[in-house]
Amino acid sequence: MILKNKVAVVTGGSRGIGRAVALGFAKEGADIAVIYSGSSERAEDVCKEAKEMGVNAFSYKCDVADFDITESTVNQIYEDLSRIDILVNNAGITRDGLVLQMKEQDFDDVIAVNLKGAFNMIKHTTRRFAKQKSGRIINISSVSGLMGNSGQANYSASKAGLIGLTKTIAKELASRGVTCNAIAPGFITTDMTEAMPEAVKEASLGIIPQKRIGTPEDIAALAVFLASDNAGYITGEVIRVDGGLYI
Ligand code: NAP
Repeated sequence: MILKNKVAVVTGGSRGIGRAVALGFAKEGADIAVIYSGSSERAEDVCKEAKEMGVNAFSYKCDVADFDITESTVNQIYEDLSRIDILVNNAGITRDGLVLQMKEQDFDDVIAVNLKGAFNMIKHTTRRFAKQKSGRIINISSVSGLMGNSGQANYSASKAGLIGLTKTIAKELASRGVTCNAIAPGFITTDMTEAMPEAVKEASLGIIPQKRIGTPEDIAALAVFLASDNAGYITGEVIRVDGGLYI
């Protein structure tokens, strides 16, 4: 159990990649705090599954885009679980559309959740990380942030922004024992990708060298490693988990 006695916060832990990451951490002995925006039942299911593995688990309804609510949620997590060792900024949304049609609100909403949400969570946890001289921050970016993607100006910008945020936090907090890395998933089967048109899914499969869509567990396996003591000398890194999509 490589995460025993650790406490992990996973934003967007109720579904998809976040759920797999939270349960991957629980399997390795970490207590978990699952942040969600609306799906309280699904968040509770994740906690139930984690508790069956013998760890503590709490769920928190919290809009990561809201600075004050993220602050009170982080404070509540410290009350419930006493400490935080690992923060995974995974909560994310899409509002796809070609830039000619994209509404200003669609751009702002995606930046607010995907990028500002990560900043909010980092802002409210890192003072204590610095004080305890340890901490692991993992930001879930995307290959769209590396290569751009038609129809995703807002999303790609938010995910590229997360990479800049990751490298900066890594530099600022390296001397305090805190690491900050980004995972850039390719095409992963979740509710987010289920919503895409069938033709787009088929076209995506055609350009993935491994010829398969990824699973949330493919991402969780790397998150568990990056959160562990084994990854202590890795910081400011962006690691693709994409079956070769962006080679
Ligand atoms: P998903 O299945 O749509 O789940 C999104 C999660 O984010 C849910 O838990 C949702 O909570 C939460 N969330 C959304 N808005 C939130 C907000 N304002 N505050 C708090 N939580 C919020 O997505 P996914 O596919 O697992 O994606 C997870 C992350 O991986 C995202 O950052 C996404 O951009 C990234 N990613 C995904 C893929 C892919 O192919 N799936 C590829 C690259 C990167 P509720 O359940 O309460 O709605």
